[in-house]
Amino acid sequence: MTATVIDGQAFAATVREKVAAHVARLKEENGITPGLAVVLVGEDPASQVYVRSKHKQTVEAGMASFEFKRDADLTEAELLALIAKLNADPKVHGILVQLPLPPHLDSDLVINSIDPAKDVDGFHISNVGLLGTGQKAMVPCTPLGCLMLLRAQHGSLSGMNAVVIGRSNIVGKPMANLLLGESCTVTIAHSRTRDLPGVVRQADIVVAAVGRPEMVKGDWIKPGATVIDVGINRVPRGEKTALVGDVDFASAAEVAGAITPVPRGVGPMTIACLLANTVTACCRAHGLPEPEGLTA
Ligand code: NDP
Repeated sequence: MTATVIDGQAFAATVREKVAAHVARLKEENGITPGLAVVLVGEDPASQVYVRSKHKQTVEAGMASFEFKRDADLTEAELLALIAKLNADPKVHGILVQLPLPPHLDSDLVINSIDPAKDVDGFHISNVGLLGTGQKAMVPCTPLGCLMLLRAQHGSLSGMNAVVIGRSNIVGKPMANLLLGESCTVTIAHSRTRDLPGVVRQADIVVAAVGRPEMVKGDWIKPGATVIDVGINRVPRGEKTALVGDVDFASAAEVAGAITPVPRGVGPMTIACLLANTVTACCRAHGLPEPEGLTA
């Protein structure tokens, strides 16, 4: 293996430390405790794991964590009323509605009912527009985490060729906008892209957010490129299952200059960036300076 393995787990720990230090200062100097409200509707097991993890890390960072667990038959009106209450609550600086919602609830309507200033997931249409026009936004957590890893690896990304594979609203599109904001030359690839290996071979930076296990092979990678693997795929391995990314790590690591593993790559950055966004939202709400290095 020739590539440097980017340790997202260790990097996420440094982000959480910075968040905790800023939270401590806000409490001591301003008497403010940043607060994150997480709304979970239904019993989706993966969502329950994420919400538990978010609660634990929020509390560890010294912030207030408010959890709202509701049954799967919650009506849209009830959910909108809860969000309106959280929008008006000065103790709540960040609101996250755990997705996916049960099918009878309109996710777009629900997300767009969150006060954009408290939208720490960065999915509200206002934040999408602000990011797309290069203005100060709440930035989706996973792409923000990827950007932090890339900045730490390279410093300036200006002029680099970046290929983002995947065009979802959650990862691919905001990632592409962030890289454009860093003055990369950005290509967004998707399921209709012709000659994907040829497109990826042009890239100094590859961000794979596809959801297909080990799809990106080593011979697609330009020698020395930086590869950020967002994918989380559970695959059978003998009697058990294993987590793998969208990149074939073994072959890509022979060619890349740097690569994130799965697990312990991008994954831990996502919750760390949620905490970072909550502190940022709190500082903006109070007109206080934002923490350095924790925003886009
Ligand atoms: P989506 O399913 O919403 O989007 C997948 C994208 O990949 C689509 O744009 C699709 O193209 C594209 N795609 C699918 N097949 C191909 C193909 N053969 N060639 C090229 N492009 C293809 O997924 P998400 O963006 O939500 O997530 C992507 C991955 O990232 C998943 O594995 C997910 O689990 C993981 N993830 C990880 C997070 C983390 O914290 N680390 C957070 C969020 C997601 P088209 O639009 O044409 O259909």
